[in-house]
Amino acid sequence: MSRPVQYNNFVKFEGIPEGYQGEGFMATSFDKVIGLARKNSIWPLPFATSCCGIEFMATMASHYDLARFGSERVGFSPRQCDLLMVMGTIAKKMGPILKQVYLQMAEPRWVISVGACACSGGIFDTYSVLQGIDQIIPVDVYVPGCPPRPEAILDGFMKIQELVHAEGLRRRHGDRYKELLAGYGIE
Ligand code: SF4
Repeated sequence: MSRPVQYNNFVKFEGIPEGYQGEGFMATSFDKVIGLARKNSIWPLPFATSCCGIEFMATMASHYDLARFGSERVGFSPRQCDLLMVMGTIAKKMGPILKQVYLQMAEPRWVISVGACACSGGIFDTYSVLQGIDQIIPVDVYVPGCPPRPEAILDGFMKIQELVHAEGLRRRHGDRYKELLAGYGIE
């Protein structure tokens, strides 16, 4: 892991990864460099269906400004994005569509479930609403709240960044990850 460098009271730079340094050289491991790059260039795919999506719009706007985290580029093509952000009530009819979007994303991909509805069905304990998106796809970070404030969404996003930074390059090829996907019927 790298330690951030404080430039002044307002600006903080990402530090260099741990490794060996000398006169004119720096050596570290490949996964630390990849983790650093991935963490600071996450491309989110917003899957927003209701009110929590409005909080996401506020998170993207100038006051909270998700672009500060290297995620200015919100994409609506699953093939180009690596973070699926699910925000809002997901009806059971919509479940297969959400799963298809997830499957169309290339590895490595992460999922953040924003708000009570996406996490657990929220107040809609009813026949037509999916009681949590983790019934159909694996979730990496849950953000509670109805709706969560933009600060909470940013906090969840930073948790995702920690996971992305620390993830080993071989994790996606391991048996545990394959078992996790198999549990969702994904090969
Ligand atoms: S968690 Fe609350 S604010 Fe978010 S989509 Fe559900 S009802 Fe709306």
